[in-house]
Amino acid sequence: MPELTEVEAFAQAMLRWCGGRRVTALERLDPTVLRTEERDLTGMTVRGVSRRGKHLIVTLDDAELMVHLRMTGQLLPGEGAAFVRASLRLHDAAPVQLIDPRRLAELHVLAPGGAARRLVGLGDEPFPGPRPGSWWRARLGGARRPLKSALMDQALVAGLGNIAASEILWRARLHPTQRASELNDGEWERLAEAAEAFLSKAMSTQEPDRVVYISRGGENPFSVYQRARCPRCEGPVTRLSQQGRSTFLCPRCQPAPLG
Ligand SMILES: [Zn+2]
Repeated sequence: MPELTEVEAFAQAMLRWCGGRRVTALERLDPTVLRTEERDLTGMTVRGVSRRGKHLIVTLDDAELMVHLRMTGQLLPGEGAAFVRASLRLHDAAPVQLIDPRRLAELHVLAPGGAARRLVGLGDEPFPGPRPGSWWRARLGGARRPLKSALMDQALVAGLGNIAASEILWRARLHPTQRASELNDGEWERLAEAAEAFLSKAMSTQEPDRVVYISRGGENPFSVYQRARCPRCEGPVTRLSQQGRSTFLCPRCQPAPLG
């Protein structure tokens, strides 16, 4: 599932693929992909591509195209791929295909400023960083919930998903069920350093024009996610279920909170 760094990589790639190009058509091959009323984008030029949380926003002359990739959505230039749900056709460039086997990805065609209005409830962005421990404490420190659930709450901090939260907590040596409100200053600093290290590394492993998902069977680039052994202490990685999602952790490196 695409999280912050995958969507960021797609946004940077989209800018290369269609920045400054004129749209000749937005083809919908699957009628359910468009979640808003239709607007004709023909003739508009792509002025920018950005990311907000897990949403990708293409800014055009007089419209915005917001893409949410959900579980299995991907963007790829070219034609004729399997599971193409929509295709952004461009003057003098290859079309960009929205590919999605699970059919959960969404397209929203909006008026200028529409994406910001829809995403007004999203929390602040942790990327690009670095963000100090005090930044994280200000956003998550009021949550009496488990730290992992607070990290994934899009209203507190935008863009972090299940994989990023597990990886950041492992790097910070913090237990996922520890209450966010009970962290001390040293632990917030560890969380801040871990988030910066994870996000930078995850961005650096993305290739320019081929965004990689672990679910596609490539080499696992993560430290605890779907790992059997902890790369730091070589102890067994365990998983626990939180909010219906698997959390991977090393019980040796991430001791459970007292009480
Ligand atoms: Zn360990």
